[in-house]
Order: sequence, then structure tokens, then C-alpha cells
Amino acid sequence: MLNIALFGPPGAGKGTQAKKIVEKYHLTHLSTGDMIRKEIAEGTELGKMAESIIQRGELLSDEFVVKLIANSMAQQPDAAGFLFDGFPRTVVQAEILDQMLEEAGNPLKGLISIQVPFEELKRRMLERAKIEGRADDNEEAIAKRFREYNDKTVHVANHYKKKGIHIDIEGNCPVEEVFASISEAIEKIR
Ligand code: AMP
Repeated sequence: MLNIALFGPPGAGKGTQAKKIVEKYHLTHLSTGDMIRKEIAEGTELGKMAESIIQRGELLSDEFVVKLIANSMAQQPDAAGFLFDGFPRTVVQAEILDQMLEEAGNPLKGLISIQVPFEELKRRMLERAKIEGRADDNEEAIAKRFREYNDKTVHVANHYKKKGIHIDIEGNCPVEEVFASISEAIEKIR
């Protein structure tokens, strides 16, 4: 079983690369952002709790997202492997994920960390705001999402560096080049 996490700041291209990775390696895509947007669109209780937090660009509680991930994993017992996208975003989430996967006998094989300079990230986010109209792609929420990333999420990279499974990928190049680097990295760890 191949369990991988895709990591990087907002606008690094995680969503785009995730689609390509799951197709090539037959993994089950677990994006906490997508799960939350679905709950909001369906107007569930969880969705109602999450809506204003997402719109402000803040992170949801660890408990909330861990529950979403654990439920999704439990619903897919036959998965050949999971691609975690947008999760873990805090060290607490990382520790819980590690424990869940280790108990299941299938620890995380790699944290694929997509690197893109800040100015390029900002440009991409504002561009996406025009095209997709995501509720959290306005300038204020984008600024907050970067602050959340720098305050809470960057530490996840160190957590996996210490475990020796952190992989840096150059993300400031065309989509296919980024994907080629990611594929090369996956071939080494699978
Ligand atoms: P994303 O689509 O991954 O950029 O996620 C969109 C938003 O969903 C984030 O800005 C957070 O508000 C929330 N979110 C997604 N994943 C997580 C997570 N692992 N922990 C906390 N909040 C999350």
C-alpha cells in the first residue's frame, strides 16, 4: 500500500498535481479542502460549522479534519493507497495521521513538498480568484491563509524531515515538469 501526502503553501499546485498522481498510481485522493467544500455545498451540520472559518482563510480544528479523514479512510477499505492533499496541516494532525497509518501497518512513505516563491504564489492565487470564484480566494482571506501556513503548517515539513521522508519538489515550472519530478520521486519510494 502506497500512502503519500502532498504538501505546500496555498497556490503551490497541489490540486492540479493530485489529480495526475491519483490517476497514474491508482491512489485514492483524500483532500480535506474538497471534503469541507462538499459539506458546505450540501448544507450539512459540519458544513455550517466550517463555512465562516473557511471564508476567513483560517484553519479548522484538528479534531474536525481528523474526523473527516478517518471517516473517508474507513469508507474505502480496499484502497490501493491514499494521497493526502491539504492534510496534515498542523503537527498535531501529522502525529495523529502517523499513528493511524502505523496502526494499520501502512506508514506514510513520503511527504511531497512543492516549493514555489511567495510572489508567484500570490500571483497564482489572485488569478484563480478571477477564474474559480472560490469564497476564500479574496485578498484578505488569501493573506490569512498564508499567515496560517507560516504559523502552523510549515512545521509539518520539519516533522517529516526528522523522519527522513520529506521530499522537496521544484514547483515554479510548467505543470508537466512538476509532475515528472513528482513521478520520479514516487518511483523511488514505492
Ligand atoms: P484547501 O482546499 O486545501 O486550500 O483548503 C481550503 C480551506 O479548508 C483551508 O483554508 C482551511 O480553512 C480548510 N482546511 C482544509 N484542510 C484543512 C486541514 N487539514 N486543517 C484545517 N483546515 C483545513
